[in-house]
Formats: sequence, C-alpha cells, structure tokens
Amino acid sequence: MKRTIGVLALQGAFAKHMEVLESLGADAVEVRDPEDLIGIEGLVIPGGESTTMSKMLVRWGLIEPVRNLIQGGLPVFGTCAGLILLADHLVNWDDLPRPAGLNITVARNAYGRQIDSFEAALDIELPGIPELSGMPFTGVFIRAPQIQLEPLGDDVEVLCRFEGLPVLVRKGSIIGSTFHPELSGDNRLHAWFLNDVVGSAGVGQRAG
Ligand code: GLN
Repeated sequence: MKRTIGVLALQGAFAKHMEVLESLGADAVEVRDPEDLIGIEGLVIPGGESTTMSKMLVRWGLIEPVRNLIQGGLPVFGTCAGLILLADHLVNWDDLPRPAGLNITVARNAYGRQIDSFEAALDIELPGIPELSGMPFTGVFIRAPQIQLEPLGDDVEVLCRFEGLPVLVRKGSIIGSTFHPELSGDNRLHAWFLNDVVGSAGVGQRAG
C-alpha cells in the first residue's frame, strides 16, 4: 500500500528524507503550509535549525495544525532539530514556539563545538523488527541535541542510547532521534517508521 508521508520542507535537511521515503515506495510530499497536511498519513520533521524552523512554522500558521494532528495520533518522526520541535521541555530555550508532544527534556547543541559532528555505531533493538538487530545503525550527529535523563516521561520508551543518553525515543506514534537517520545510507529506520509506526496507526487514518 502506497503511503503518503508529509515532510516539513520549510528549512533544513528535508530533501534526503523525501528521497529515502520515495525509495521505500512512499509518496513523500513537501509540507509548507497547512493545506499540504491534508491527506498525509505520517509526518517527518527534519533536522536543520530549530529556531529558524520555529519562526517559519509560526509564519505559515503550522504550529496549531501540526500539534493537533500529532495529538490526534498522526505518526510523526522528528530528527535532530525536528526532535527539538517535538520536545515538551527545552533547556534554556523553553519559550521556542513548537508543536511539542514528547515528554522529554532536550538541550540544544549539547555535544559542544569541538565535536560539532560525529558518527557513532548505534545498537537499536526493536521487538518484532529483526532487520534492526545484529547490524549497528550509523548515527550521524550534526550539532546534535541531547535528551536529558530527567525529566523523561514514563510513557516515553528509550529505543537506543549512546553514551548513556537516549538518542532514539518513542511515545506511541511519536518518534524522535537526536541523529540524522536519512544521512547514513541505511533506510531501516525509515522502513520501520513507514511499515510499523504508520502502518499500525489505524487503517486509512489520514489527516484532513
Ligand atoms: N543545532 C541545531 C538546532 O539546535 C540542530 C542541528 C540539526 O538538526 N542537525 O536547531
């Protein structure tokens, strides 16, 4: 079944997400204003600059509609800056307008200047997803945020840790990663989002 997945395309690293989703057989659509949300079955919020993305979300009247859809159960995958926009709590930036929805606490740019970008082999085990077991996933971290250990909602599952901190989390149909899964040349996480998270989110559930 061909899935229609919106990719927030205001700023940042959206093109590569679209490419990966299309390579998996999905119909990826660019989301720039509220009308673009109509008919999507899932949404990707890419990495980039969260402050710029936030400004554009406000300008295009997207915060409320996106928040409402997420609260209504629309599957969403926020990566890096996208995760920042999904966090309920932000260290030092808590007034940043954003859709939120994930009861996590995120510190922006928390790996510091000296290691703005790095790659790490991540062990991700997802029950029922054998493709992710056994072969590490290369996490590409670019001026990445950190998810703090507290407060971290009881309803938030930590799916992967790096150096003790969560780097991939899930609350129901809301998924967030501090790394860029679209840049590793490995489509397993997108496939999981598409098949498992979107696939089990209620038959034919579409925004609109
Ligand atoms: N440092 C960026 C921010 O705080 C996030 C970086 C990224 O998305 N790769 O918004």
